[in-house]
Parts: sequence; structure tokens; C-alpha cells
Amino acid sequence: MTVQTMEFKTEIKQLLDLMIHSLYSHKEIFLRELISNASDAIDKARYESLTNKDIIVKSGPWKIKIKADKEKGIITLSDNGIGMTKDELVEALGTIAHSGTKEFLKSVQSKDIKDAPELIGQFGVGFYSSFMVADKVIVLTRQAGIPGNSGTKWESTADGSFTINEIEKETPGTDIILHIKEEEKKYLDEWELRDIIRKYSDYIEYPVVMDVEREQESAIEKGKKVKVTEEETLNSQKAIWLKDKTEITENEYNEFYKHVSHDFHDPLKVIHYKAEGTSEFTCLFYLPAKAPMDMFYKDFKIGLMLYVKRVQIMDHCEQLLPLYLRFIKGVVDSSDLPLNVSREILQSNRQVEIIKKNITKKVLDTLADMKKNDSEQYLLFFREFGKVLKEGIHYDFSKKETIAELLLFNSTKSVEGGLRTLQEYLDGMKPEQDAIYYITAPSLNEAIGSPYLEVLRDKDYEVLIMTDEVDDFIFNHFEYKGKKMRSATRGEVAIDSGNKEEAKKQYAKLIDVIKAELKDDVKDVRLSGRLKDSPCCLVSDEGDLDPNMEKLLKAMGQEVSSKKRILEINPSHDLFGILNSVFEHDNESATLKEYISLLYDQALLLEGSKPKNPLLFTQYVSKLMIDHAKREQIT
Ligand code: ADP
Repeated sequence: MTVQTMEFKTEIKQLLDLMIHSLYSHKEIFLRELISNASDAIDKARYESLTNKDIIVKSGPWKIKIKADKEKGIITLSDNGIGMTKDELVEALGTIAHSGTKEFLKSVQSKDIKDAPELIGQFGVGFYSSFMVADKVIVLTRQAGIPGNSGTKWESTADGSFTINEIEKETPGTDIILHIKEEEKKYLDEWELRDIIRKYSDYIEYPVVMDVEREQESAIEKGKKVKVTEEETLNSQKAIWLKDKTEITENEYNEFYKHVSHDFHDPLKVIHYKAEGTSEFTCLFYLPAKAPMDMFYKDFKIGLMLYVKRVQIMDHCEQLLPLYLRFIKGVVDSSDLPLNVSREILQSNRQVEIIKKNITKKVLDTLADMKKNDSEQYLLFFREFGKVLKEGIHYDFSKKETIAELLLFNSTKSVEGGLRTLQEYLDGMKPEQDAIYYITAPSLNEAIGSPYLEVLRDKDYEVLIMTDEVDDFIFNHFEYKGKKMRSATRGEVAIDSGNKEEAKKQYAKLIDVIKAELKDDVKDVRLSGRLKDSPCCLVSDEGDLDPNMEKLLKAMGQEVSSKKRILEINPSHDLFGILNSVFEHDNESATLKEYISLLYDQALLLEGSKPKNPLLFTQYVSKLMIDHAKREQIT
């Protein structure tokens, strides 16, 4: 039989390199990762066995067996789970990198991984962690449920490639054989293994067993001790969510969280309850402490694990949570759903709807309670997941008021590090103020110094500062307790229309010239109601996209036609009196054209963009500087 040599995908090579050379602490987690994979594989086999009797007959009682051979320096971990076909094996352990691996590697390059080993856990790089303790790993696997099929062997020393060949394997399932590194021999010790299993894998539903040698009295010869080998189960196997709360230690809750989430951190909060009534189900879920890095990627795995009467049906059941709560991890065990429930059935199932509603309410209630009674913890939560939670404002009509109560904002009135609620905003509104003002900007500083807020600042109106790209999309049409949200950079701000009419008349012709000169760049030129000190700014039209949102959509690869914006000029700025005189003196003058071009470039600069033609811009400015110096006779 031929042995094929294959290259690891580049990202996996880098990942392995990191595992082997940079990660020093927590090496014992390799065992948790392998047991977790084995347990997942048995979950799948058990689910398949509901419809394929061949599986259960062939596989016997589900179990995960660990053998440690001290002399040979080998640990073998065997499961009788679903196994893999050759193609699945090549993909799973070599040619397909987890989503987000690239980004993960980029992010660790900038950090010292030795100080942040928990980063590794966030990506569920599970299997590859075996190379932290082994210099050679062999996988023998055979897919369950197909009588007479053969198996496949995978072998690697993590040197950039792995080999694959067909083998005979007696039973379905997977064996992972680790050749333990000289300096990690302690993992071959029975008590070390027991400890690790108790610490990390106690809740695993299937027995994790090991052959142990015992001395016992000989049955034949009284008084003589003989050695016997017995299979011992090392974990308590209790489905943790079905236990009584009082019986569960914090450590057990935390370890189970790590099992379901692949996160390395302890969770921020545990939510564990049993619902009774129209629908009976038990929930154990968690608010993570840290946002996973891939939370905003398209292939981020959403959903809770779904069990029906202790049998795992699905590991990521999307139907159980609204998208804006996708950070929740955990388990739902229902007594009402049929065991053979399929994804299609789930989509329109009434029980699932009831569970989803119940969970949504429970999570939002928990958050409200946390916000009220433990604001420090709530702040930790909000900084990580507020960005996701607020999507609910747009997507969940029935809950948007409730979600709005949970939101926190930076604002022109929030003190250093503090955040404001919408209610606090309403309480501080000026009597004549008609709307809740917000500004979208790439950063806090840019928002605070923004010329778009000049008049609002002057009036002492508070402005909420939105720095997430999605903000404008979410809050654009939102109304809180009867007050509309209004963007400070879009549409007209007509707070101070004072002597605008007069200025309009005075500058009507000049404005027409500016309009004609900039007709390719802007869709209109008008007097501004929002500027006080700056000469001009660019604003979006009422119904147009916010520039931040436009950037986001473009970055996501969507076609967006850039809409022309409106140039607003500040009639009370001295510049316009001067421009008007230049215009009245000679409405065709080259100087006027240069000034208009500079005016537009200034507006671009003020919103954080580049001048339209940087070369021309510097030429004009240099010329102005020279003229100015000459006139002032500074030279
Ligand atoms: P993860 O478990 O997070 O998907 P791993 O790198 O640990 O990541 O495993 C990659 C894939 O390899 C798994 O998704 C699974 O398809 C397969 N796999 C790993 N271990 C086993 C096993 N014991 N039995 C069957 N499949 C396995």
C-alpha cells in the first residue's frame, strides 16, 4: 500500500511552529482537547446510531480509552466514535485551517505568545496541541457505520508534512498515538493523567477509562498478592446541566464552559435554569469574558448545543438564539423535541420558538440585572459584546426598547472612561432640544474635535459618539421614548437659523459659482446650520449612507456607489466676505477657482479624508504662504 506524503497548509505549519516553539505553559490541555474531540466523535456516532443500527452493534458501549506505555514513551487515546474517511482525515488534520487562523496568527505576531497562551484556546486548535508534548503523532481511524471498509493512517512529526496510507483497522473509531517528548515524560504517569482528566474532563458524558494494575489477594493461594489489570473509569460522567446547582462547583462550571466554547478563559457569568410549563427544557449557558476574534466573520459558528433527553443532536443549533446574542455559549436539553429532529424541522418548530423566546428573555433579564446590581461586571461584558448586542435594535422589533435600556455610549458629556445610558441623555436634554444627537467617527478624539459639532457644542447639547461602523445603520431610524436619533453629519441641522435668510441672499451668486465649479464633486452647496468656527464641511444627504458605513460595506466586498455629498459653508466665517469680494471683482478669476478648490480640500481634511488632489493642494498652499510672507514683508 502506498504512503502518500502531503504538505500542511501554510497556516497550519505556522500554527504548529507556534505550538512547538513558543507555548510553554498549560501543556496538559492537549489531553482535554483530544478527549473533547473523542467525545464529539462519539456524540456523532450515537446520533447516527439512531438510524443506523450497524453502528451500535459494531461499536459496543461508548467509551474513550487511554493507555500509557512508559517503556515505549507512548500515550494512546482510542474512541469508538464516528471516525473519519481518508478525505475527511486529510482535510481535518492538514489541509483545511480553521476559520480565523490567519487573523489569529497575525494577532499573535504582534504579541508575546508566551504571555498569552490563552489566545491559542480561542481558536480551538485542539488536535494540533498534541505536538506540545509529542514529537510524533499517529492517527488511525476508520469511519463507523460502513461494514467492511478499511481505515487510514496519518502520521507526522510536525516538520511541514504528514503521511497518509490505507490500513486495516479492526474496529471503527479513532486512535491517537502520541510519542511523548523526552522532556514531557511526566504525562506518562498514571496519576498525572488521572489528575488532568479529573480537572478538565470530569463532566464528559462517556467513560474515560484506563487499564490500571492492582495488587490483590490471589484467589488460589491465600496470602499471596497477585497483579491484576482492571479497566477503571476516571471521570464522573455527569451531564452537568442536569445536576442540581448546589452540587456544582465553580471549577466544574468553568471547565464545562471551556469544553463547549473552546475558550481558555473562565466565563464571566453562568446562567443555569430549568424551564417547566408549556415546554420542558434545561439550559446551561454562559456569558464569555472575552470576545472571540472571529465573532464578526461570516463563518463564525453560532448557536447552543442542542440535546434531547441527554443525547446530543447538534453542536451548533442556530435556531435557539437570535443573532445579536451569538456570543452566548452553552447547552439546551429539551424533553419535548423528537430525537430525530432535523435542521429543517427545527426551522419551523413551535417548541424551538418557545425555547428561543425564553432564552432571549432570560439573557436580557440577566443583563438588565447585572447592569443594575453589578455595574463593574456589566461594563466588562458591554465592552466585549455591546457591539453585537446593539444589532438587536435593528433586528428585533419586539425587544428594541429592552435592548436600548442596556446600551452604553460615549458622549461629549461622558467623563473619562465613563459611559452614558440613553435615559441619562434624555434626563440632560435642553428644554427646546428636539432630538438625540449622535456623531459617527473613526475614533473618540476625532468625534470630540469634530467641526460638525460646533453649533451643538455651543448650545451645550450632548452628542453621543459612535465609533463602530455599524452604528449609523442601527441608530439611523431609531427612536427612544419618543425622541428621534439624529446624525450630526447627515441632513440639515437647523438649530440656529437666525440671520440665514439675509446671508442666503448675500451669497446666492457666489454659491452658484461654487456649485458650478464643484459640480463633479458635490451634489449641492448650501449654508450651514452646524458650523461656528470652521469655514465649511461635507455632509451626507438625509437618506444617504453614512461614510463609515460606506467604508464597512466596501471592506465587506459589497458594491456601493459613492454618493456625492453636500458642501456646507459657514456664512459667519470671514473667508466668505473675502471670497465674495474676489468674486465681485472678477467672477472668472483664477484666484477664485483656486480658493474654491482649497475650500473643498479643507472640507475633505476636516472629515478625515485626503485632499482631492494632494499635489495641487500643496502647490496652492505654498503659493499662499509665499504671497503672505511677501505681503507681510517677513522675508
Ligand atoms: P476542532 O475539534 O475544534 O474542530 P481539531 O483540530 O481538534 O479542531 O479537529 C479538527 C477536526 O478533526 C474535527 O473537527 C473533527 O472533524 C476531526 N477529528 C479530530 N479528532 C477526531 C476524532 N477523535 N474522531 C473523529 N474526528 C476527529
